[in-house]
Amino acid sequence: MDAFDGVIHVAAQALDPLDLYDVRGSLSEDERLVKDSVARLVDEQVLPIIGKAFEEHRFPRELVPELAALGLLGSSLAGYGCAGLNAVASGLICQELERGDSALRSFVSVQSSLCMYPIHAFGSDAQRERYLARMARGECIGCFGLTEPHGGSDPANMKTHARRRGADWILNGAKMWITNAPIADLCIAWAATDEGIRGFLVERGTPGFTTAEIHHKFSLRASATGALYFDDVVIPDEQRLPGVEGLKGPLSCLSQARFGIAWGAIGAAQACLSELLEYTKTRVLFGRPLAATQLIQVRLAEMARGITTAQLLALELARLKDRGAVTPSQISLAKWHNVRMALDVARDCRDMLGGAGISAEYAPIRHMLNLESVVTYEGTESVHQLSVGRELTGLSAF
Ligand SMILES: Cc1cc2nc3c(=O)[nH]c(=O)nc-3n(C[C@H](O)[C@H](O)[C@H](O)COP(=O)(O)OP(=O)(O)OC[C@H]3O[C@@H](n4cnc5c(N)ncnc54)[C@H](O)[C@@H]3O)c2cc1C
Repeated sequence: MDAFDGVIHVAAQALDPLDLYDVRGSLSEDERLVKDSVARLVDEQVLPIIGKAFEEHRFPRELVPELAALGLLGSSLAGYGCAGLNAVASGLICQELERGDSALRSFVSVQSSLCMYPIHAFGSDAQRERYLARMARGECIGCFGLTEPHGGSDPANMKTHARRRGADWILNGAKMWITNAPIADLCIAWAATDEGIRGFLVERGTPGFTTAEIHHKFSLRASATGALYFDDVVIPDEQRLPGVEGLKGPLSCLSQARFGIAWGAIGAAQACLSELLEYTKTRVLFGRPLAATQLIQVRLAEMARGITTAQLLALELARLKDRGAVTPSQISLAKWHNVRMALDVARDCRDMLGGAGISAEYAPIRHMLNLESVVTYEGTESVHQLSVGRELTGLSAF
């Protein structure tokens, strides 16, 4: 009888529809604090402007000082004014930012995981001193140049190359689809050399180095995306990352960023579901709220299933990362699963809004369009499936 009472008591508690398994309850106080402060930033400063920025195809650069002031740039790094947060807290930052828009999470991912991380992990002391604190303050914006016009899924075959000339390197080539390229002060350029792939720190203004913006995107319109061109750029050896050789350099940065994407995608899906729950409660069709319709409830339940499994996957991934036990194929599985989930949720929410779903007044279409980039960048869905396949079989099928 007691047990029965207990069941009724537990069942009577209202669950948070965006957190059915109470992930929040398993967070530490510090992790909750991080989540809540980023959520506040997103509610107060991002959501009021992001729709317009998306329409205008404009990166809201005015938010960079706010992101920096909250310690969101390089948040998982130690020293140099960085917060040294654990993986769960860094994941929660991505989740909350992407609840606002994938463009903001992309900006923070590139700055933190693709630029500050390699300088921190593979840079010289002088490089760390020169860049990291400024990057944490948002005074120096970075970009990460790996993808090339001829194909991003096969970076081992990059054409961009650097040749030694005395104490310098001469860099030639082009990079395509680079987040932050039009606004970056610093680029981490990955290039083939006679000694294997190496990373170079190239500052804006270096002769022969130019950038161009990619216009007319239908996705990530609030993010600045562009191309990088290197035409006989002279780079002193001190600007080479000394601590890493080969594809391991860029791939280890991508592992950091993909981890953040696995968390971020949850935020985009939550934003869509949240809006849809409100909409379906008030939209009356066939004499009842849409939310009281069986098919609609099944679709909402499907979304909750996707979001919940993604949350638990991301949380466990972060715990593995904090224990130093995470592997690239585990990250691949989470990036693939969570972005696919978010894209499906966004598309289905768009549909359930009916005609209103194509209006910028509602968030799902913006998230849906953004997620078309997220499912492609940092390794396409197929590339991550092949990574998991290789883990299972021991055979590379790329
Ligand atoms: C908005 C945006 C921002 C980006 N930001 C950055 C950035 O900051 N830095 C950076 O370096 N890159 C960036 N990228 C590039 C991104 O990482 C690449 O677009 C991605 O890796 C895919 O490369 P690709 O576009 O050349 O497609 P391709 O590699 O040409 O792939 C085309 C198709 O072929 C499939 N495919 C490829 N190989 C195989 C295979 N072996 N088996 C089966 N299918 C395969 C792919 O899954 C895909 O569907 C960004 C891209 C976008 C859209």
